[in-house]
Amino acid sequence: MIPFNKPHLTGKETAYIEEAVRSGKISGDGMFTKKCHAFFENNYSMRKALLTTSCTDALEMSALLANIQPGDEVIVPSYTFVSTANAFVLRGAHIVFADSRSDHPGIDEDLVEKLITARTKAIVVVHYAGVACDMDKINSIADQHNLLVIEDAAQAIDSFYKGRPLGTLGHMSAFSFHETKNIQCGEGGLLAINHERFIQRAEIIREKGTNRSAFFRGEVDKYGWVDIGSSFLPSEIVAAFLFAQLENINSIQQRRREIWNRYHVALKPLADQGKLKLPVIPDFASNNAHMFYVLTENLHERSALIEHMKAAGSFPVFHYLSLHKSPFYTDKHQGGDMPHSDRYMDTLLRLPLFVDMSDAETDRVIESIIGYFAK
Ligand SMILES: *Cc1c(COP(=O)(O)O)cnc(C)c1O
Repeated sequence: MIPFNKPHLTGKETAYIEEAVRSGKISGDGMFTKKCHAFFENNYSMRKALLTTSCTDALEMSALLANIQPGDEVIVPSYTFVSTANAFVLRGAHIVFADSRSDHPGIDEDLVEKLITARTKAIVVVHYAGVACDMDKINSIADQHNLLVIEDAAQAIDSFYKGRPLGTLGHMSAFSFHETKNIQCGEGGLLAINHERFIQRAEIIREKGTNRSAFFRGEVDKYGWVDIGSSFLPSEIVAAFLFAQLENINSIQQRRREIWNRYHVALKPLADQGKLKLPVIPDFASNNAHMFYVLTENLHERSALIEHMKAAGSFPVFHYLSLHKSPFYTDKHQGGDMPHSDRYMDTLLRLPLFVDMSDAETDRVIESIIGYFAK
């Protein structure tokens, strides 16, 4: 069976973990955490990078930094992972859902302005499949209405908008290093801060509401409880694993792109015949090969295709259920229908894609899809 995902190991992970353990310092913000922070700040021009224990945590930090109060409204795409919305609901926000683009599962930028009210505090965008939203449009709407922009860049490491790294275009952004993402450490995340005014408070929130970080830099002579916060920082064991991945990011990305392109070339004829749709990458966006998906005609066809592919030995998976229809939110949702989000919910199918997947395995997945449509 070809699985949907198999976490890739670069070979250095356990050696670095051992180094962290031997150093005697395995709580957070040690040598490996600093190396990871420097990597992100130097390679992706993030103003401030802070490792967290998950992307969910980074999103929760961003809700705290945005000072979300009960009753505030936050605009979020319906077609996304639970955490994108839940992080703000925890602060008492009302989520105003937006539909996806017709050509891409990302938020339809042209719908956002109509959703803004006097209570709106922030727009959260999701760079679905690592493909950028139109950030010039989003940022200009946010500027006009004095709103914060938060990027859920969980899938968007090493991807770009008009040449600028994703995660550096909003006020702050959240990345995931869950084992299903391009760069992974089992469970892990990153909060990137792009505006000076949030940095000091971010460090405090991440350290249980204390100014411990400033204390260790010698900026204050004692540390104490100065704000609300929680324990958002990972241990050095996690950072050591992550650094081994980051050192190999170029080869990881290159192999993922090869597999992505192999799928694209081989499935293009089916798309040309109108049998399925392939991912669209807008001109302003790069492709970090986080995901290769196809869109089927309808739900029935997707179910049949999944059955066919499983019988032929591979394991494709569908993705999100529209959040505005979720059991938790359906009676709180005050907006209208989200036809595109619902369409991706019913028809989007993600194909196996992982670094250690061979060309022969990729071809087996491709052949099973071609076989299905030849029936
Ligand atoms: C994976 C993912 C998350 C959650 O990441 P964790 O690190 O597991 O918390 C959030 N949003 C999106 C869009 C994701 O793909």
